[in-house]
Amino acid sequence: MKGNKGKEVKGRRLGLFGGTFNPIHIGHLRGAEEIRESFQLDEVIFIPAAIPPHKGIGEVIDARHRMEMVRLAIQNNPFFSASEVEILRPGKSYSIDTIKYYRETNSDDIYFILGRDGFIEIDTWKDFKTLFSLCNFIVMTRPGFEKANLFSKLPEALTSDFHYNQEIGAWTHFSGFYLYFKEITFLDISSTKVRELIEKGESVRYLIPSQVEEYIRQNNLYKRGN
Ligand code: ATP
Repeated sequence: MKGNKGKEVKGRRLGLFGGTFNPIHIGHLRGAEEIRESFQLDEVIFIPAAIPPHKGIGEVIDARHRMEMVRLAIQNNPFFSASEVEILRPGKSYSIDTIKYYRETNSDDIYFILGRDGFIEIDTWKDFKTLFSLCNFIVMTRPGFEKANLFSKLPEALTSDFHYNQEIGAWTHFSGFYLYFKEITFLDISSTKVRELIEKGESVRYLIPSQVEEYIRQNNLYKRGN
């Protein structure tokens, strides 16, 4: 975009990071930070899902608790924020609705961030082929989901929609948006692992931020029978 003095005006670059965050852990935080830095994002918005379409309801605690833990975890990072957009929307949380919401409400360049495990099953997401004509996507590496031949391979249903752009090292969608695969520090941490440790009464120190640990303790979360 050109400004009125003919100077190049850089649009804001906005990262959308959806997840269940049940609870948020260091893998989420470090991943978002590395992506923010390497893609020069101006902001990364963490968006907890109300009802995640791909997870059993029983194991997911109330969205208010998950949101509060996200808020506590990101409070000292000026580039991070949290949004209730999915929590306030009735019904299941579909990423396509969230991306459309951000496209309608601001003019930033949007980068949707997800892990490799999510991308592997992208063809089960609502309107998955349309997703890539709405914004850019960044797929982060994740331990356990990185078989060598998967690194640059697209799901069958998407191959005809993209071509590989050698110059920028990314896949270009026919709409003009990009799909990036980004290697980040491998942190073999999952919310499942954190929940299991808590249930067993074991330490989760250094896997989640201390404020989140304290919140879980105070609210007696993730104990069997809750
Ligand atoms: P659970 O163990 O309950 O399935 P999770 O740890 O996968 O949860 P989510 O909230 O489902 O956490 O993840 C949100 C997003 O962050 C997903 O796109 C996921 O792939 C990504 N992600 C989570 N943990 C990591 C990690 N350690 N490294 C890279 N990406 C991650």
